[in-house]
Amino acid sequence: MDKLSEIDRRRVWHPYAPMPARVAPLVVTEASGVRLRLEDGRELIDGMSSWWAAVHGYRHPDLDAAARDQIGKMSHVMFGGLTHEPAVRLADRLAGLAPDGLEHVFLCDSGSVSVEVAVKMCLQYWRSLGFPDKQKLLTWRGGYHGDTFMAMSVCDPEGGMHRMWDGVLPRQVFAGPPPETFEQSYAGELRDLIARHAGELAAVMVEPVVQGAGGMRFHSPEYLKVLRQACDDHGVLLVFDEIATGFGRSGSLFAAGHAGVSPDVMCVGKALTGGYLTLAAALCTSEVAAGIGRGELPVLAHGPTFMGNPLACAVANASLDVLLGTGTYPRGWQAEVKRIESGLAAGLEPARSLPGVTDVRVQGAIGVVQLDHAADMAAATEAAVRAGVWLRPFGELIYTMPPYVTSDDDLARLCEGLLEVARAA
Ligand SMILES: *Cc1c(COP(=O)(O)O)cnc(C)c1O
Repeated sequence: MDKLSEIDRRRVWHPYAPMPARVAPLVVTEASGVRLRLEDGRELIDGMSSWWAAVHGYRHPDLDAAARDQIGKMSHVMFGGLTHEPAVRLADRLAGLAPDGLEHVFLCDSGSVSVEVAVKMCLQYWRSLGFPDKQKLLTWRGGYHGDTFMAMSVCDPEGGMHRMWDGVLPRQVFAGPPPETFEQSYAGELRDLIARHAGELAAVMVEPVVQGAGGMRFHSPEYLKVLRQACDDHGVLLVFDEIATGFGRSGSLFAAGHAGVSPDVMCVGKALTGGYLTLAAALCTSEVAAGIGRGELPVLAHGPTFMGNPLACAVANASLDVLLGTGTYPRGWQAEVKRIESGLAAGLEPARSLPGVTDVRVQGAIGVVQLDHAADMAAATEAAVRAGVWLRPFGELIYTMPPYVTSDDDLARLCEGLLEVARAA
């Protein structure tokens, strides 16, 4: 039989990849703690947490046990007309942990689907209240909200996706990208746009504080207060996409906490199950739920086959226990995220003097080195693997969001590896 990676290259689509693939992917056989083990026995320190998800590392004993335990009871059962403890407990805990006012939880399969559900909630809310023209979304540039069509329509319009789908994607309202520090003029731009478009706006949707896959940029939490006020003033709902930022990554349990602002709808995903299984949720206020309930179709017409999957919910509950308990994080997760923030700031500082580096920035357990050119993926991957780390740059960005359990030594090696990648890419 051909090598696994050769069959993969010819047969299997990978994210944002051509078919057949130009570069064969690396085969992972096992992962434990912060280490990925490759087919040839090499071990890599994981700098990506499998795209924000594996916050406690791999094969965490509590998460493994929760999965095994739940498999012994049931892996899945339909959610229409039936319910179960893992989902009920998870929804109740999420509502308790989320910013004030988010009372109701819609469980779904992936981040993109939770964005679709969030948009459906907002559009249906206004339709039910007799404002069917409020259908558009406002967002700022530099965002990323997923790959399904409605989610794509609020992603940053640069970069070809919008041009390619012109006429297919709904046209949304875009503000400029949020500046890193608070600027009155930009706050004014947000207020003006919301006021001007209020009649057609169902919601403002943004990633709070950290824009992830759209450019790994950070902005002042003050803008979230501006959005909240302007949305309230002009009858527009506010949606926070916390799929990347949720569960501590930015230094606050939810990034909304940096501003003390509550949205009307919030999406979570990625780290919800500690990276074990795909699960996401859209949370909303009682006001939104009640509004939907007053419509001609008084239900939220959405119901994925695998809604509330017990296995995923059981692991998500275990992941919350680990995050909020004292076993894995005796000093609390905040202390570990702070420790990683300091480690990244110190470890990535030397990148500032490398040729081709335009910026180095850190927020919570997220470190970013920005280049003045697109990284050469093959050269970057080779340099990372040679340095014993796993990093996956995109565009001009080499970045890391390591698991919270990464030790100081591993973090230092990760930062050195990232510098190697910045030199090679
Ligand atoms: C990853 C991500 C999504 C999409 O989630 P999927 O699970 O990949 O569908 C949406 N919004 C943000 C902010 C994300 O980081």
